Amino acid sequence: MFTLSDLVQPEKLETAYQILLDKKNNAILGGCAFLKMGSKRIGTAIDLSNLNLSYIKETNGFIEIGAMTSLRDLEIHALLNNSFNGVLPKSVRNIIGVQFRNSVTVGASVYAKYGFSDLITALLALETDVELYKGGRMPLVDFLNKPKGKDILVRIWVKIDQCKATYLNLRNSASDYSVLNVAVSKLDDQWTIVVGARPRRATIASRASASLSKGSISETEIEAAAQQAAEELSFGTNMRGTAKYRKALCKVLVKRAIMEVLA
Ligand SMILES: Cc1cc2nc3c(=O)[nH]c(=O)nc-3n(C[C@H](O)[C@H](O)[C@H](O)COP(=O)(O)OP(=O)(O)OC[C@H]3O[C@@H](n4cnc5c(N)ncnc54)[C@H](O)[C@@H]3O)c2cc1C
Repeated sequence: MFTLSDLVQPEKLETAYQILLDKKNNAILGGCAFLKMGSKRIGTAIDLSNLNLSYIKETNGFIEIGAMTSLRDLEIHALLNNSFNGVLPKSVRNIIGVQFRNSVTVGASVYAKYGFSDLITALLALETDVELYKGGRMPLVDFLNKPKGKDILVRIWVKIDQCKATYLNLRNSASDYSVLNVAVSKLDDQWTIVVGARPRRATIASRASASLSKGSISETEIEAAAQQAAEELSFGTNMRGTAKYRKALCKVLVKRAIMEVLA
């Protein structure tokens, strides 16, 4: 369990950011579920609850999701269920249980860049931007490639378009992390194939996505794209599965996901 010496609930983001920078061991709090699993000794803990960051709304052609929005709110929100074949609600629906999803936050789930993340995999298949207080707004893919620093994730932005998408994964047991997760999307002729929990962080299989985007799609081409995704990405071994198993699983899940999007 983590410990903290002091707790603040700032009413301005600038105050929260200044306190975060004040000392090395000052930290932002999300829903605290992941923090509870560690033994971090936090100086001043910064609770963002007074900053009105728990919301999902449509703004200028984007779905805007505040950092303190819970995974449960994301799961049941009508706009998200009616957009992109409900890929975002689908990606979080099986994380532990409802009470858990009521407390964990979108901001922490994205900012922490967990390799096992189900949400990041689905967000990468869409046109998603991340907005940091200091670092500003950038594509999710750039944020994931940035070295970790001290900042506050304020909100994420998902472009509203006619993208069709799906999310699939495999867990060894209902409440475990994914052994592998996959999200596939199609906007006009452009396909995006994302594979996460490899167990490394989610990434786009760019060569497989490009070859699928070339034109007509037969069963042979789907099979070839799934094979290519499994070949171009690297996989690792941990207690949930071997690299070899994940590679084989990648081919199966990618093929199924492409067929689901086509259907
Ligand atoms: C037992 C368990 C099982 C899980 N299983 C899954 C799973 O199967 N699939 C899955 O995708 N996820 C899973 N998760 C992760 C979970 O969904 C959340 O992503 C995770 O708990 C972090 O959310 P939180 O709100 O609890 O963050 P916290 O624990 O409060 O914070 C986590 C980290 O993020 C930082 N932080 C929080 N908010 C911000 C912010 N706005 N800006 C910058 N930094 C911030 C904190 O300082 C801390 O370092 C699991 C977590 C636990 C504890």
